[in-house]
Amino acid sequence: MIRPIVLWPDPILSQICAPIEQIDAPVQQLATDMLETMYDAPGRGLAAPQVGVLLRMFVMDTAWKDGDRTPTVVINPNITDRSDQSVIGPEGCLSIPGVTADVTRAAEITMQWTGLDGSLFVERLTGFTAICAQHEFDHLEGRVTFDRLTSDVRSILQAEYLA
Ligand SMILES: [Zn+2]
Repeated sequence: MIRPIVLWPDPILSQICAPIEQIDAPVQQLATDMLETMYDAPGRGLAAPQVGVLLRMFVMDTAWKDGDRTPTVVINPNITDRSDQSVIGPEGCLSIPGVTADVTRAAEITMQWTGLDGSLFVERLTGFTAICAQHEFDHLEGRVTFDRLTSDVRSILQAEYLA
């Protein structure tokens, strides 16, 4: 089921999300719905608060627009390492339609998370996948791209968005 996407500046997007204690049927349904919503949007990442659920889960599929769908469901992620090298690149957000912001991110990260089947993953993420994961992780901490900008740039983009 496609769920409505929460749009900035809804205060839901500023909340810190709670860990998922148990991967039960509602959590599995949420993951299914989030993937359907992401592909429909269309987007390459979607975090639970973006559909109004304050739990630590996001979905991503960074390559599906270029080929087959390879969805990843990320539960209770933890970024355990960020490379010293950073990259700046344009990022959109399904909760801030029409706005592209240049955000600085670590070029590579190590992330651990739990999959939908309960198994543990620890992976070094690079390239666009690393960027996407950091963007979605930010949502679980109540941060959007605007929160990663200088106040000058933020003011300009917010004014454009709200106009
Ligand atoms: Zn976003």
